[in-house]
Amino acid sequence: MAIPQHARTQLLHAASADAYADLVHHGARRVAARVVRAQSAGPFTGISPDALAAEFAGIDLDVPLPDPDTALDELERLYLRDAVWFHHPRYLAHLNCPVLLPALLGETVLAAVNSSLDTWDQSAGGTVIEQHLIDWTARRIGLGPDADGVFTSGGTQSNLQALLMARQEACGGDLSLLPRLRVLASSCAHFSVTKAATLLGLGPDAVVSVPCDAERRMQPAALERALEQCRRAGEVPVAVVATAGTTDFGSIDPLPEIADLCARHDVWLHVDAAYGCGLLVSPTRRALLDGVERADSVTVDFHKSFFQPVSCSALLVRDRSVLRHATYHADYLNPKRMTERRIPNQVDKSLQTTRRFDALKLWLSLRTLGADAIGELFDTVVDLAADGWELLTADDRFEVVVRPQLSTLVFRWAPRQHRARQQDLLDAANLHARDALAASGAAMVAGTVVDGRHHLKFTLLNPETTTADLAAVLDLIAAHAEAYLDLAAQAA
Ligand SMILES: *Cc1c(COP(=O)(O)O)cnc(C)c1O
Repeated sequence: MAIPQHARTQLLHAASADAYADLVHHGARRVAARVVRAQSAGPFTGISPDALAAEFAGIDLDVPLPDPDTALDELERLYLRDAVWFHHPRYLAHLNCPVLLPALLGETVLAAVNSSLDTWDQSAGGTVIEQHLIDWTARRIGLGPDADGVFTSGGTQSNLQALLMARQEACGGDLSLLPRLRVLASSCAHFSVTKAATLLGLGPDAVVSVPCDAERRMQPAALERALEQCRRAGEVPVAVVATAGTTDFGSIDPLPEIADLCARHDVWLHVDAAYGCGLLVSPTRRALLDGVERADSVTVDFHKSFFQPVSCSALLVRDRSVLRHATYHADYLNPKRMTERRIPNQVDKSLQTTRRFDALKLWLSLRTLGADAIGELFDTVVDLAADGWELLTADDRFEVVVRPQLSTLVFRWAPRQHRARQQDLLDAANLHARDALAASGAAMVAGTVVDGRHHLKFTLLNPETTTADLAAVLDLIAAHAEAYLDLAAQAA
């Protein structure tokens, strides 16, 4: 069957290059208009899954639309109109950031050139750019002359690869040891640590949860007890995972003390700095990461605190030789002789094969904006969280869990007169307030459970958000929660 002329013009090649540039420009204009509109309309329309599903009725993927403009019109209805906009100053929910313009430029370039970073012969300069950024990040961390690393799809993948390497180093391929291997992480560590342990064939009890102090940081004394307990029980500690910026609280585990214990017990130290990595470029707060330079491996999510679009993330290691645990050779792709000829095939150190050139986004951000400017953006949201903490502690309507080290605030609507009793009702009121706020479209906040009780969370990553925004959203939350209590009282 001959390829229809129409389809051929839709591939990017010399004859369609102009059309490509126009099309991308056109698409970007549409998004720009939506971004402007969202500013006054709110971060979300509050549409329900059912209402949105109804919009998809009648769409037949076997029957295409006549042109891209019509497809974009449809997309406005299916996606853009009701999207969740992270650039909005009252989007305060998850660890999502507004994105840097040079990074969006990078996204456009990397998508069109479509380099794959697995081998040199598919990427050339892309490989060199990524390696420069890996070296730069490792220097910022202070990992020393033998450091290396690779870009990944996110913190989840970085944590998995770190624990794969730690497992291989600990058991040297003797899989009979698997049931006895243990990973020690704080009770506030990210769930991807447990997921990784399962994927790596460790047992259901493999992750030992180390208690935190009131500031939600791992207690070194408890870690020491857990390490000794492992030894006594004949278990093998594979790694300690310290979190530099817990997802809920932004708390930073005491890295120097943990590094001392890892050295004394000869255990791999992995630092999960998926969130806290923004401190690497902070002009004022880099010291909060002191001790990270002693890690064996470090997770950094540039798509959280470096204002990069998803995905942009990396894993760094102190000793590049451990990356061999991810090396497998294929005749068609990366034969051993290429390693001997020192051809830099990044697939040799990655869990992925075909891999996006996500590094380009960070590269253009550093080349046009610079590291200090990115660090100042992160500092701004950390300052904002400190202001938010002042607001919350001065407000009788709320309880706040910890004074933030980074940019999250976990709190609960609990007016003084209700605090002693009615905890279940307060739980329900907080849950309701979060949902009602999202449904209203006025703001979005997150929720989490602390000590068995429902709390609300501001995750602040937008330097455009002001203290006045926080105060206004707190008033909205209180109004929704009070309305809920009134209704509950009427029903009783
Ligand atoms: C977000 C996060 C992760 C997971 O990262 P993804 O990029 O979402 O896969 C891991 N650890 C911490 C501490 C995080 O905050």
